Amino acid sequence: MQLTNRGKVVSNKEQSLAEKIYFPAIIKGMAITFSHLFKKRPTIMYPEVKRQYADVYRGQHVLKLDENGAERCTSCGMCAIACPAEAIIMESAERKKGEEHLYREEKYAKTYEINMLRCIFCGLCEEACPKEAIFLTDRIVDAEYERDTFIYGKDKLVEKIDKRIDVTKRQTPEVQEFKKLPGYKHNELYQKKLKK
Ligand code: SF4
Ligand code: SF4
Repeated sequence: MQLTNRGKVVSNKEQSLAEKIYFPAIIKGMAITFSHLFKKRPTIMYPEVKRQYADVYRGQHVLKLDENGAERCTSCGMCAIACPAEAIIMESAERKKGEEHLYREEKYAKTYEINMLRCIFCGLCEEACPKEAIFLTDRIVDAEYERDTFIYGKDKLVEKIDKRIDVTKRQTPEVQEFKKLPGYKHNELYQKKLKK
């Protein structure tokens, strides 16, 4: 019984001598290879030459400190919940007296890890973060030989606020509007929209 119409009739035609010795096929293959010598190279000499990335490119993550050098992350877990690849894990701890300069909120991430091999760089963690702590940069995750080294902890992720990251190109006008609100009162914005 025929299941599909994709079947092909195979020819039983006797091969010619030229076909048997593969000579024309070899010449044809070499001609194709030779023709590439005169074509523009599609490859680049990385890392000496780097490609221009799209404005919406999302690469390696960072956990930003605030203006005073304190960690913004409050270990709320929103990024981990939003992550479709289950690439983020963290362990929370309570801020002690005298640690206000280290952690902005009363709760902070004692450990915070992203598995770069699991990550699909979708950016949902960045969107989910209510503290503007996690951002995806335009940096490429380094190639490594061991799988363990792709698990990035706070030692690799936390960085100062100095290197600003412009994420506006990958935000919708609605998100940009929301970000302008003092305290990001998105519920109020939502209520206002409902009343319109
Ligand atoms: S970019 Fe996407 S996949 Fe990667 S850690 Fe964030 S939410 Fe998970
Ligand atoms: S990075 Fe943001 S979303 Fe993730 S735990 Fe920290 S504060 Fe919450």
